[in-house]
Amino acid sequence: MSRRFRWAVMSLQAKHVPPKPEEIPGPESRNDERRAVKLADLPPAQYVTVVAKVASIRVREAWDRLGSKRVFSGCLEDETFRVPYVCHKTALPLERGSILEISSAYVHEFEDRALLLVLTEHTDAKPRASTDGPDFVWHPRIGGIRRPVWNVALSGVVPSISCSSGLVRRCNRCKSIVRGSCPNGCDADWDWDLRISCTIQDRSGSMKMILGRYLSSKVLERNLGEVLLLANAKAVPSDGDAGPAIFNLALPKGLKVMEALVEDPSRYRHHGSLVVSDGVMRIYFPKGEGVAGELIDAKERDLDPGTDQGSRLIKRIVERAVERGIEGVTGRPMTQGIYLLERPIPLYCERAKLYAGFSTDIRVEGERAIVEAWPQACVRESVWDYVRWRRERGATADAIERSLLTWRANVIAAPFGHPGRIEGLIFAKAGEEAISELDGRDFTTFWRETYNIDVSPDETPLIRVKLLSLDLPLTYPPSCISFGENALPLGRGLRGFIDGKRASARARVQDVMRRATQGVKLGGVELKNIDGDEKLMDVQGFIMHEIRERLLGTAVRARGSVSWMRGQPYFFPSEIVRLG
Ligand SMILES: [Zn+2]
Repeated sequence: MSRRFRWAVMSLQAKHVPPKPEEIPGPESRNDERRAVKLADLPPAQYVTVVAKVASIRVREAWDRLGSKRVFSGCLEDETFRVPYVCHKTALPLERGSILEISSAYVHEFEDRALLLVLTEHTDAKPRASTDGPDFVWHPRIGGIRRPVWNVALSGVVPSISCSSGLVRRCNRCKSIVRGSCPNGCDADWDWDLRISCTIQDRSGSMKMILGRYLSSKVLERNLGEVLLLANAKAVPSDGDAGPAIFNLALPKGLKVMEALVEDPSRYRHHGSLVVSDGVMRIYFPKGEGVAGELIDAKERDLDPGTDQGSRLIKRIVERAVERGIEGVTGRPMTQGIYLLERPIPLYCERAKLYAGFSTDIRVEGERAIVEAWPQACVRESVWDYVRWRRERGATADAIERSLLTWRANVIAAPFGHPGRIEGLIFAKAGEEAISELDGRDFTTFWRETYNIDVSPDETPLIRVKLLSLDLPLTYPPSCISFGENALPLGRGLRGFIDGKRASARARVQDVMRRATQGVKLGGVELKNIDGDEKLMDVQGFIMHEIRERLLGTAVRARGSVSWMRGQPYFFPSEIVRLG
């Protein structure tokens, strides 16, 4: 089927029933000065003038009380958007590919914000010579889509993958995703399903993207049946070379923690301490853990691993304890979202370096915490290194700012490796600027105290970054922000080297983790390593890990439809390919 024909078929979805011509309000007193509006800016429920190309046209028969009549439908396109139309006035010179100035067309808006241009008996259309000016071809950009649209091809990178991806439980009645029980209270059975919920982003903006089960299995390069079958096995043995190193730690029975109210939880997040916060006003830490600072209403609490909140808090405290153990062995703090096994290796591609190490994934199951350590090898170039490299080559501050705000805007933030976008530069030094109005510490002091990461007081400019997981932009010193592999011109040879590095890291990961998980303590109680247990990898975690490996940070091109839900656009592809 040709692309053009399919587009015509898909110009309107079944739920979009065009309004009857008699239901459309008549044009108000005609105003002679009518400026043409772009298709991206059509005002709903008004008569407009547009200059657009007839991208597709088909004819169908309709009936009213006078009998049958012909109705045209299809799509109009300019360089800003593509909008379906229906035309009741067959005398208009509509022809595929022709460029028309159409006046007094009515803009109908459907409930889901989708638009339809209705060409009524009041509408006029005259051909416009297509010599100069725009070519009336829409090149879709993610940030430019402000209305639902069908069969659109979008290209971009995937900067984040939602945790509601992978193997999910789906309610058999309402098809909602079930966590515990159905959010709609169906009380029906559920079945395993495979999906990917992520973000797609280009330089113009970002959008949620949802891949259904078939495309998800295609991305995973696995048979869908095989994946769903795997879901029913609760856990699978870790596969020798490719999988993680797994450690089971016994949790103390009846774990007690202290809960306290504080004014600013971030001030208690100190490097090496086991304090975790709920992000608002409360902090939690194992009893017996020394905490500096004033605590209001500190009280002891039992943590029940059977509850959501309990297991989440236990998981985060164990994460901190394991982090402390790993740093004790390697002598290096977490950076770029991974624990380094060696010093970063220069790659001689700009100032990029290879970070070889591992990341951890911790989950709490009953009386034990399962720690998975995944070998990692990733390429990063810090913005600080990049700025200095450009300076040495003679770039001006303006030129560097322009690069950072446009084609080098996608970055990864230390220490956890969260993706984000550069929003602005502050031309001040890390050692002189206070991190916030409330916290007078400069950036160098803050990063040393909070994360044990060295930031030179001379670093400049400071970078405003909007993390994709947060609404507010945060300010970082430039050494704590990096470009990922996708931003860097890496050759095939380098990629081979990186893969080899990852494969060879596994034995060392096993060794470091064995030492790091010995003597991990929560408030004086040691978490015993349960050696005898089978090393089982969580199936959901395994699938999630594979999805991240294949999709996170990669460039993709996808074709599908954009719909509006809860006030925001969602892209539902029916085809997807990885680029590069
Ligand atoms: Zn349900």
